Amino acid sequence: MKNIIKNFAVFFLIFAIIATIFSLFDASQKNVEQISVDRLVEEIKNDEVAKIEVRGSQLDVTLKNSNQQVSKKEMNESLNELLKNYEVPSEKVQAVEISVGDEPNSGMFVSTILPFVIPGLFIIGLIWFMMRQVQGVNSRAMSFGQSGAKLADQQKNKVSFKDVAGAKEAKEDLLEVVEFLRQPQKFIVMGAKIPKGLLLLGAPGTGKTLMARAVAGEAKVPFFHISGSEFVEMFVGVGASRVRDLFKKAKKASPCIVFIDEIDAVGRQRGAGLGGSHDEREQTLNQILVEMDGFDNQTNIIVLAATNRPDVLDPALLRPGRFDRQVVIDLPDIRDREEILKIHANKKPLAKDVNLKLVAQRTPGFSGADLANVLNEAAILAAKNGDKNISSQIILDSIERVMLGRERKSYILSENEKKIIAYHEAGHALVAHILPNADPVHKVSIISRGRAAGYTINLPKEDKKLKSYSEFIDDMAVLLGGYSSEKIFFKEVTTGASNDLKRVTETAKRLVTQFGMDEKLGPRTFGEKEEMIFLGKEIHERRDYSEKTAELIDEAISEYISQAQKTATKLINDHKDKMEK
Ligand code: ADP
Ligand code: MG
Ligand code: ZN
Repeated sequence: MKNIIKNFAVFFLIFAIIATIFSLFDASQKNVEQISVDRLVEEIKNDEVAKIEVRGSQLDVTLKNSNQQVSKKEMNESLNELLKNYEVPSEKVQAVEISVGDEPNSGMFVSTILPFVIPGLFIIGLIWFMMRQVQGVNSRAMSFGQSGAKLADQQKNKVSFKDVAGAKEAKEDLLEVVEFLRQPQKFIVMGAKIPKGLLLLGAPGTGKTLMARAVAGEAKVPFFHISGSEFVEMFVGVGASRVRDLFKKAKKASPCIVFIDEIDAVGRQRGAGLGGSHDEREQTLNQILVEMDGFDNQTNIIVLAATNRPDVLDPALLRPGRFDRQVVIDLPDIRDREEILKIHANKKPLAKDVNLKLVAQRTPGFSGADLANVLNEAAILAAKNGDKNISSQIILDSIERVMLGRERKSYILSENEKKIIAYHEAGHALVAHILPNADPVHKVSIISRGRAAGYTINLPKEDKKLKSYSEFIDDMAVLLGGYSSEKIFFKEVTTGASNDLKRVTETAKRLVTQFGMDEKLGPRTFGEKEEMIFLGKEIHERRDYSEKTAELIDEAISEYISQAQKTATKLINDHKDKMEK
């Protein structure tokens, strides 16, 4: 579309230039006075004319005072006849020197031929441009089947394992793979089979892509990278042919590494879902499987893949001989967080008082990408303030910024709303402070941040991997602390509690249906999550229990929530004085 507009602009320009030339031509002719035949006759009668040159239908008149004039006559009529018709006396005609010259060629050309030629040229040019466009599309269509995998540039790609903090096990596994590629003989002698595929699993932002780039930097073998979504195209069959092309290139370059990022884009479980795009994915996936089966022990290609949705992957991908190695990259623990922060603080001028250990403590649950983001936000903030370096306060502030969005001090609240939010947040804080299994309160604020009107931040004392029943129970009471407080102090609730309600319901539901923590319903799960791809993305829950059980589940959920509310209400009522304070 852009191109077409551009071409039109070019043509318009050319057209404008030609038009200008035209008008210049006209202007040059206007230097000579144009006169009518009547006037010429008049002049001849008055003996003013010295000479007339007849050039086709044009009459170039030279007056006795050597002025030049131009007149026109009909093409087929001779000048003599014309003058006779005007009854010019013949002696007057004889007194004028009449000669016949060439027809005014240039004038003829400009006035008669160009008007035909130019639109013609214009149209021919347009057609030519359009042909070129179509050909462009064609040649692009020809390259559809090519994978477009990018070969990492060893010189430019400077990422190495040093740049990836933590994830020791993942690094070890990957180093082994690199070793395989460098010295395959060592392993073959021992009768070991070279692994074909290695799957990196982990939450978004845990550094899977970064890790793969580090492998590319370390391996010193060609490294092809492509994203799963690049296989998916509007046209059927393209994905599979791209896979073929990718592996063809890889085989030529072997030993080498092929990295397929976000493989869940094509590797989803086959046979689930509706719609045409799904068949296409299935074919692409099949082709990947076929290619991976096709390697023999001499083909030194190792396929790395990354995903944050291992649960949706097709089991066929995970079976031995394909992605038989799976490396899980967890969210970083406190030590790893400090390491990651150190890496990203490297080129930033931090103030002396910055304690990255403290930052790591304050950021449980943050991924590597979040941490990188915290330091980046801090750097931006410091730069905006015109500071010399990045202070501790700015970094701590950036943590909240990344967690909840930026502070909105300009967000105007009425006095009454401020009061409601203050009581609401105080409710959360009080309940969290008193209950033994809730995370301690770190900060309470009634300054709006992101979408939250106010917020209470609870930080766990230490990183936890497991969560117990009593922690869930106390958490739910904390979540309802705001709601209960509004009810006690204002006799009604506001919309400010809606997100709390959503979260408390979700917690109760998972407690009952996923974790088997409810005594009555027992140690089993309810409902099977199923991914249905239909008009976009939708997670569909399949019921695997009876109508009667559904009622029990509903009851249990409501019971947990009402218990949590009772706990919160009691605590707030017991400590009303502290709340007021
Ligand atoms: P994903 O797992 O979603 O592919 P990325 O590899 O794209 O995550 O990570 C995003 C960014 O987060 C990286 O570019 C890097 O700056 C930072 N990051 C994530 N994990 C680490 C880590 N372990 N060490 C250093 N930086 C990390
Ligand atoms: Mg990634
Ligand atoms: Zn709340």
